Amino acid sequence: MAWYRNHYQCARCDAEWTDDWSCMCDDDCPFCGARHMSPHHNDDLTHVTERRADRFVVLRSMESAEETPDYELVANFPSRKLAEAFLKATLTASPNTSA
Ligand SMILES: [Zn+2]
Repeated sequence: MAWYRNHYQCARCDAEWTDDWSCMCDDDCPFCGARHMSPHHNDDLTHVTERRADRFVVLRSMESAEETPDYELVANFPSRKLAEAFLKATLTASPNTSA
């Protein structure tokens, strides 16, 4: 399951807010209540890196995720650089190619 952080700007009152969700869906303005605002931008949070103690872990949103990203730990590394290199390789790898 993909996981996104959607960025919204209200067309009526100009307020900005973000919402994390499993799709790029419309949201209602939390300030003035205007309906069905579409995200103008989103960050893909399906894979994230995070520092835990002295390690950097790579997390992936599980297939079963619906209302929370439900992250599972994919790998952990001694540095952020290695974690991000792994993540980049994962994201660019073809799903049909097995190592
Ligand atoms: Zn508004």
